[in-house]
Amino acid sequence: MDLKHIKSFIVEDGHLSIESFSGSNYIITKTTCSCKGFGFRRTCSHFKEATENGLITLLQQQQSTIKLTLSPTAIKMRKDALKKLLTKHNITFTENMINTIEPQLTISTKPEDVIALAKICKVFAN
Ligand SMILES: [Zn+2]
Repeated sequence: MDLKHIKSFIVEDGHLSIESFSGSNYIITKTTCSCKGFGFRRTCSHFKEATENGLITLLQQQQSTIKLTLSPTAIKMRKDALKKLLTKHNITFTENMINTIEPQLTISTKPEDVIALAKICKVFAN
């Protein structure tokens, strides 16, 4: 994975908020990027990079999961379980990563899915 355009990202409700290496912030949806380049050319380096690195897939998965209303306690428990799993697999994490991954966990999420998500996230969070 060779990232030249996206420095970091966070998955928000149905879109990605990204920070580019030049320090600008953009919003990427399943089909668009908010940068000027995308406005002119209908494609851009951010959107291409997000697609090539599975981030658009991540968005599609997020939208297809059923949103549950969880209490703050339940969310904290999920985050703690997530941290334990990542620690067990020697994956270093940041709060940003945990906050990105946690909303995507469902009852059918397998540990290996979590590890795969964490690996994608890690590249961008560092
Ligand atoms: Zn862009």
